[in-house]
Amino acid sequence: MTRPVVLTGDRTTGPLHIGHYAGSLLNRLRFQDTHEQFLLLADTQALTDNAHTPDKVRLGVMEVALDYLAIGIDPAKTTICLQSHLPALAELSMLYLNFVTVARLERNPTIKDEIRGRGFGRDIPAGFLCYPAAQAADITAFKATVVPVGEDQAPLIEQTNEIVRRINTTAGRAVLPEAQAVIPQAGRLPGVDGKAKMSKSGGNAIALSASPDEIAAAVKAMFTDPNHLRVEDPGRVEGNVVFTYLDAFDEDRTTLEELKAQYRRGGLGDSKIKRRLEDILQALIGPTRERRTQLAKDPAYVLDVIRRGTEKARSRTETTKREVVEGLGLFML
Ligand code: ATP
Ligand code: MG
Repeated sequence: MTRPVVLTGDRTTGPLHIGHYAGSLLNRLRFQDTHEQFLLLADTQALTDNAHTPDKVRLGVMEVALDYLAIGIDPAKTTICLQSHLPALAELSMLYLNFVTVARLERNPTIKDEIRGRGFGRDIPAGFLCYPAAQAADITAFKATVVPVGEDQAPLIEQTNEIVRRINTTAGRAVLPEAQAVIPQAGRLPGVDGKAKMSKSGGNAIALSASPDEIAAAVKAMFTDPNHLRVEDPGRVEGNVVFTYLDAFDEDRTTLEELKAQYRRGGLGDSKIKRRLEDILQALIGPTRERRTQLAKDPAYVLDVIRRGTEKARSRTETTKREVVEGLGLFML
C-alpha cells in the first residue's frame, strides 16, 4: 500500500528555532514512520525577501539541513531536497500564476501580515507577492495531501487548494489532489519579545542550536507581566511570554497549573518561573545541539543527504509537471 505523501519545508534564512519545533518539527518526526515524507529546503522562497543577501540564503541551506538531522529527521525515511535544484517547481509556479489573480494574492492574510512586517511599503518584490503560487507548486508537485505547518500558514494551504480546483476544473479531471494542513493545537509560538510570532527574520527566536548562555540570556530578558513588580503582587498569566512557553514545552501539566494559580494569587516571583523555563529549554535543546555539533564536522555527509534527496525529488516532481501540462491540454512532446 502506498503511504500518503507529506510535504513541508523551511525557508533557508537561518537556523531553526523552538517555534519550528512546537509548530511543525514534532509532527514531522511522527510522520516519518507513517507517511512518505519530503522536506523542502526552500531557498528560492527565501530569496523572495532576501534577494540582496543571497549569502544568507545559501548558508541557510546547511543550517536547516543540520537542524533536521540533529532533531531526528532520518534521511532513510524522509527525503530532504533543495528547492532551487528542482526545475519542475519553477515550471509549475509559472503555470499556476495564470490561475490566481493579483487581487487574490494581495488579499491573502499571511501575505498581508508579512508585507506589513517586512516594511515593503509599495515596493513588494514580485516574487514575494507570488510565493503562494510557488508554494502551491511545491505541495502539488509531490502530490502531497498532508502539510504539517504552523498556524500562520493556513491561508496558504487554502490558496493552494483553490489553485488545485481551478487546474482540475480546466483539465476536466482530478490531475492534482487537495492538501490538508496539519496545525498543532498550541498555535504559533510568540517571539521572546512578546511579538505575535517567533521568526528567524524577526531576531526574536531561540534557535535549536542556541548555546547554554544564549538560552539563559533569552529567558532572562523575557517579557512577563509589567505590573508584577513585587513577588507578593498578583500577576497575569495570559500574554506572559514565560507562561506561553511553559504551556508549549512543560510536560508536567499539574505543576504548571499550580504555578499559574499561585502566580495569579501573588507570591510567585518571575525569577522562579524563569528558572523553570530555562531548565526545560536547556534540557530540550542540549542534546540536539550536541548532535548538531557532531554532524557539522562532516559537511560531506550532509551534502550527500541533500544531493540524494534532491535527485529522488527531481524525477517525482518532473512526472507531476508533465501530468499538469498534459492535463491543461498543452502541446506534449
Ligand atoms: P522567516 O522569518 O524567514 O519567515 P520563519 O521563522 O517564519 O522564518 P519559516 O521557514 O517561514 O520560518 O517557517 C517554516 C515552518 O515553521 C512553517 O510551517 C511555519 O508555520 C512554522 N513556524 C515558523 N515560526 C513558527 C512559530 N513561531 N510558531 C509555530 N510555527 C512556526
Ligand atoms: Mg516565515
